[in-house]
Amino acid sequence: DMADLIARLPRRVHEVYAPFAETSPDLPAFVEAGRVWTYRHFSDAVDAAAKDLADLAIRPGDRVMVVSENSVALGAMLFAASTLDAWAIPVNPRLSARELDLIATHSGARRALFNAALSKDAADHASRTSASLRAVGPFGGIGVGALHEAAKVEPVEALSERQVAALMYTSGTTGAPKGVMLSHRNLLVAAKVSGNLRRTAPGDRIYGVLPMSHIVGYSILLISTLMHGAALHVVSKADPAALARALAEEGITTLYGVPATYQRLLEYKAVNGIAQLSRGNLRLMCVAGAPLDLELKRRMEEEFGVSLLNGYGITECSPGLAGVREENPAADETVGPFLPGIDHRIVDRDGRQVGIGEVGELHVRGANIMLGYYRAPDLTAAAIDRDGWFNTGDLGRMNEREQLYIVGRTKEMIIRSGFNVYPAEIEAVLNTHHDVVQSAVVGRPVDGNEEVVAYVQLLPGARVDAEALKSYAASQLTAYKRPTELIVLDALPAASTGKILKHKLRELALAGTA
Ligand code: ATP
Repeated sequence: DMADLIARLPRRVHEVYAPFAETSPDLPAFVEAGRVWTYRHFSDAVDAAAKDLADLAIRPGDRVMVVSENSVALGAMLFAASTLDAWAIPVNPRLSARELDLIATHSGARRALFNAALSKDAADHASRTSASLRAVGPFGGIGVGALHEAAKVEPVEALSERQVAALMYTSGTTGAPKGVMLSHRNLLVAAKVSGNLRRTAPGDRIYGVLPMSHIVGYSILLISTLMHGAALHVVSKADPAALARALAEEGITTLYGVPATYQRLLEYKAVNGIAQLSRGNLRLMCVAGAPLDLELKRRMEEEFGVSLLNGYGITECSPGLAGVREENPAADETVGPFLPGIDHRIVDRDGRQVGIGEVGELHVRGANIMLGYYRAPDLTAAAIDRDGWFNTGDLGRMNEREQLYIVGRTKEMIIRSGFNVYPAEIEAVLNTHHDVVQSAVVGRPVDGNEEVVAYVQLLPGARVDAEALKSYAASQLTAYKRPTELIVLDALPAASTGKILKHKLRELALAGTA
């Protein structure tokens, strides 16, 4: 049970690999650009990096930004921060200068570490902030930037499992970035539950393309992989050709992706006229982060003969909340039953629990729920009530088999002429059109009502136009759900994780009426 699981956890995130480094030091922990890092190599690298960070005056309670594409160096620097009781802030180098500066200022980070050797983006940020290049542990070309020399340290918890391990800034698909404070305990519980769920074990080779600067990459790819003795194949840049090759040649057993990861793999296959992708040793395909398109699920399962397991998580929950089980695969877009240790309730506007099949707002409680938003007590109080219930801001419903369906976000729900319109439902219809790559639907307030505005990205060379697509949607949707306006864009604005930035589209929709 959960109490037992928690009692057996290590205290801090960097302690997860120690048992393997001691008992099976030659087991592979990482594969990066063909080079194998054993558990012993990696453990030594973290120790050396920690020593250098201490020499750079990083103190317990300091915030440290680590700006890097996926790499062994990034993993080692994140764990090195943990050994010093500093708060790690993993940051995606693809963020703009403005976005990066917002995080630096908001977090009061004392130091920033840029993996300048690995990407131009990180190198640009490093030179812009006058970082000096040096080695951190065995990793060369790391830019060390001094940010807030006078930064005050945060108090260090007596119980180290309660200490903040990571400050994760959300990608901001709903607005301004928020700093999510996750404790060592939060992350370790989530990583353990996730590894148990997917039966991660020595011998597994996990494809590590989701960024470690985002919660899935940090918690599930980095921490959970090393906690269960598996090997992470580190990928610094998403590339479907490289993924196809890794499946064929590297013995990958487990894929974690967002829908776009799989979408791009199938596009690569189609564009290159490949009859059949090699499955190699693949045993598990997991997907999360955005609504799952059923056509995509069907095609991936047909390609590899493995079910595509949907999961639901959120940064504030470290991230896992629900997941389809391998032994009970789903035929539709359900995100599966809740994970062990997650209390949940689905409530209406008055806070009353709704019945089976009814849509309500999802509230959850468990050892994986964040400590709060950094330097934002009001936001924290609005998200977590006195009894510890966290409001996910997502709308969901349960079926009679205890399976959860995510139908949208409270904030994105459109109320048109008194009817609730869930953008995801309209997007799903548009996405079934063979010329549509992806779509996003937002509300536009007009005279006390809301209109439905759809943005669509088409396949290159597609012949369908906006009017024809509107009729296509109209033929499958009841009147109040039909898009008032449908606009074709070359590309939809997306965060570095591939998620569509709906707040940008809402701004665009509003500007469209002016
Ligand atoms: P912000 O909170 O600033 O908008 P974000 O959207 O990137 O940033 P994340 O924590 O990365 O925040 O994403 C969590 C959200 O993603 C969930 O609240 C939910 O709306 C959506 N989501 C995650 N997994 C799924 C899934 N399998 N199906 C549908 N939606 C999902």
